[in-house]
Amino acid sequence: MVDEESSGNSEEIVLRIRETLIAGSQIFLDYDGTLVPIVINPENCYADERLRSILMKISAKYDLFIVSGRQVDELRKFISLDINLIGMHGAVAYIHGKEMPLVRDFYSYRERMRKVIDMHLETQYDGLRVYDKSSGILFHLGLVPPDRRDGPSARIAEIAYETGMELYRGKSVLELKIPGVNKGDAIRKFRNDLPCLIAGDEKTDESAFVKCSECITIHVGSGETVAEFRVMDVAALRNILDQIA
Ligand SMILES: [Mg+2]
Repeated sequence: MVDEESSGNSEEIVLRIRETLIAGSQIFLDYDGTLVPIVINPENCYADERLRSILMKISAKYDLFIVSGRQVDELRKFISLDINLIGMHGAVAYIHGKEMPLVRDFYSYRERMRKVIDMHLETQYDGLRVYDKSSGILFHLGLVPPDRRDGPSARIAEIAYETGMELYRGKSVLELKIPGVNKGDAIRKFRNDLPCLIAGDEKTDESAFVKCSECITIHVGSGETVAEFRVMDVAALRNILDQIA
């Protein structure tokens, strides 16, 4: 685990990567908050020319994967390079031009999710917001008066039971998730025996850091992490990638 003091500067990180990775080594990079800054309008998150040029250089030398919560079609549109993609937090991959599910019964769960979305629960419970997150459905109860949350909460728990999806309870949110979807397991499915680098900025990336602890791991930004290194922002990570390419 790193803290601000012991996180090491960029030079140390570059040195460590250069000493460890070899040609053909794998590099798994998150997208939002890691390669591009978090933006207000996430539908418009295109890779700029500098990023595309860094990714092209990286993929000429290493086996590069972008691992994101986004759908692979979105990533293909934003990055527009012939590289390996793992989307929806590890539910689906796009490798050599072919989409492949990484979890059992993925398309069947998507079908069940579509039916849940079609129930339009937000029209039955005032203030409830429902979001299709591709690998799950997020129910936001922030605008539901606290004394009226039991109804929708019980209904969502019932749906979890009926669909066989995992139920996560947050502070003002409930989330139904396709069982077994996480970045760590997805990366493990592709890992070879060579040294490897993983970088990301979110809680979902922490699962990858834990499950792939043999890899060099970099956390982008503030917040707690189990990663070996920390960089403060997207620009710092890009500079490191530029130097190892
Ligand atoms: Mg991210």
